[in-house]
Amino acid sequence: MGKVYLTGAGPGDIDLLTVKALRVVREADVIIYDRLANPDILAEAKDGCEFVYVGKEDSHHILPQEEINEVIYRSALKYENVVRLKGGDPFVFGRGGEEGIYLRERGIAFEFIPGITSAIAVPEYAGIPVTHRGITVSFRVVTGHESSNKDHSQIPWENYKSDDTIIFLMGLHRLKKIANKLMEIGKPKDCPVAVISRGTRPDERTVVGTLKDIYEKAKDLPTPALIVVGEVVTLREQLSWFEK
Ligand code: SAH
Repeated sequence: MGKVYLTGAGPGDIDLLTVKALRVVREADVIIYDRLANPDILAEAKDGCEFVYVGKEDSHHILPQEEINEVIYRSALKYENVVRLKGGDPFVFGRGGEEGIYLRERGIAFEFIPGITSAIAVPEYAGIPVTHRGITVSFRVVTGHESSNKDHSQIPWENYKSDDTIIFLMGLHRLKKIANKLMEIGKPKDCPVAVISRGTRPDERTVVGTLKDIYEKAKDLPTPALIVVGEVVTLREQLSWFEK
């Protein structure tokens, strides 16, 4: 029986892979990866390594999590070194915990390898610090993709009036709703917002606006994209570097 490395692949730029992740990728007998992990990483694998893709970008068709769990489990029965490569960090909306529980219940050994999360690194490439002295003392990372039961929002919107930086992942298709909701709870209409598309990749693009106009400005950006809300967005004027 093999061991599974639940591995963060970082946000896109292949150089943001950790040394430890690179080591397990080079030793892997099989790599199970999805649409957010940079496929260039696979070029680092040894000859004969098997690749299993479990997500399609275009159709947004992704294998149900239960099936992915099963693929990982079966790979561990067959191979010694199994790498489950996930975009960003496995625990930040990465379902790494679910995969770990599934394996533990079946007696499969695993390790987690943290990755650089897009939630912090993508704003950083856009020149937006998630905290900044004198502007904000905390940040929140929130899913913009609510549970399918729309009447029962799991997001405690009332808490979001504060000056925390808010980073929404998986929220581009709900950008209008998110902006409206934030204005509804009392955030100023001119609160700065950035949408960063394909962050840390050569085609990264950032669009800056306010809660009032960001939807019109950013709605057609390609995914993956994340949304940053808060005064820190204005620092981009002084700190932008990657897209220059
Ligand atoms: N575990 C991942 C996040 C998974 S949720 C991490 O730690 O980064 C997927 C969401 O992450 C996407 O919908 C998008 O909002 C964000 N995301 C991931 N990579 C991104 C990138 N390169 N640029 C912009 N957003 C990204």
